Amino acid sequence: MASKVTNKRHCMFCGRSEDEVEVMLQGLNGSICSDCVKMAGDYLNEMQHNAAESLGKIDDLPKPKEIKAFLDQYVIGQDRAKKLLSVSVYNHYKRINHNLVDKPDDGVELEKSNILLVGPTGTGKTLLARSIAKMLKVPFTIVDATVLTQAGYVGEDVESILSRLLQESDYNVAKAERGIVFIDEIDKIARKGDNPSITRDVSGEGVQQALLKLLEGNIVNVPPQGGRKHPEQEFIHVNTQNILFICGGAFEGIERIIAQRLNTQVIGFTSSEKRSIDKNNLLKYVSSEDLKTYGLIPEIVGRLPVVTYLDNLGKSALLRILTEPKNAIIKQYSKMFELDGMKLEIEPSVINLIADNSISRKLGARGLRSLCEKIFDDAMFEAPSSRRKTFTVTYDYAKEKLKDTEN
Ligand code: ADP
Repeated sequence: MASKVTNKRHCMFCGRSEDEVEVMLQGLNGSICSDCVKMAGDYLNEMQHNAAESLGKIDDLPKPKEIKAFLDQYVIGQDRAKKLLSVSVYNHYKRINHNLVDKPDDGVELEKSNILLVGPTGTGKTLLARSIAKMLKVPFTIVDATVLTQAGYVGEDVESILSRLLQESDYNVAKAERGIVFIDEIDKIARKGDNPSITRDVSGEGVQQALLKLLEGNIVNVPPQGGRKHPEQEFIHVNTQNILFICGGAFEGIERIIAQRLNTQVIGFTSSEKRSIDKNNLLKYVSSEDLKTYGLIPEIVGRLPVVTYLDNLGKSALLRILTEPKNAIIKQYSKMFELDGMKLEIEPSVINLIADNSISRKLGARGLRSLCEKIFDDAMFEAPSSRRKTFTVTYDYAKEKLKDTEN
């Protein structure tokens, strides 16, 4: 008897016929059954999950000395802060890698240590945090604590900090959860006065309380677009457990608090011990206690266990900032001219002039770029249409340009 020829379709993956499966999908050159489609879907999901997990792990995590060497390329001076930051950041990501990969069962939970940088504006706090994120290729965002308000008040809810981090991570939550957040001007949300009961203020202590939730490590409901939360909104859940928070602030006037504490402490010390205090740089003695007296709530101080200070930048540091770092301002201008086929020559006295001007205008490192802008703006207007091969900035030319801006 001749065998019956059937036109039944078979799954290209498992070989079963259409009778044996729920649904058979027909493609151009073959078919696939619904079971195999489902299995392929699960497989893809798992792959994506694993990829996300591995994003959290920093492969070849640089050692503290390597991190410091990298920072040296971008940040002038601030050696102590660089060292401490390098160790803390290394420990932070070592801890994440350990928890993620080794999945420890020895019960030793490594807690995270957020960092506080105390120092005058324009001394490199943001630059340090930004450079570290760049080195580790992790998402990074900067927020100004002064725009944050306690929920329910005009301003931005603290969760909007994480919205920005999500945006930086292209909404990849796993990636955002290993990012770095720099919170600038944390000193501006200090409680006014030292007595919590009579000076409770919503923009200060309220924000600190809200921030605490983030710093501690919690699952937070984040509005994807930032701003204020509202009830109909959909939220993204972000775990802040592994997000490194680096806070910065000038803490103007904290020297007085430090001095006062040191004065009371040194009673009973020998006079040589008293003398060893460097009165010109009291910031280097800053402690958690001083931060509390300044108006940070104890819980926040507790969540910022790594505290370091940045030095005021003197003239020699400003001179170096102009020319030395990998992306030094002067190098950037040279590059801009070079792209127009022109060589930029700058008399050394011009660099001196820029540094002096920044100091006399009390602008610190922050003023360097705007001063350069004033010197170079006309030249940059002319350069693209010019046939000249070299542009030389003389002392007189620079002085003339800066004169226009003096008031
Ligand atoms: P802060 O956060 O302490 O107020 P920033 O890090 O924003 O200061 O510094 C402002 C700018 O000044 C930086 O973009 C950088 O160009 C320059 N700058 C400040 N400090 C340093 C430094 N120590 N080394 C190199 N550049 C610096």
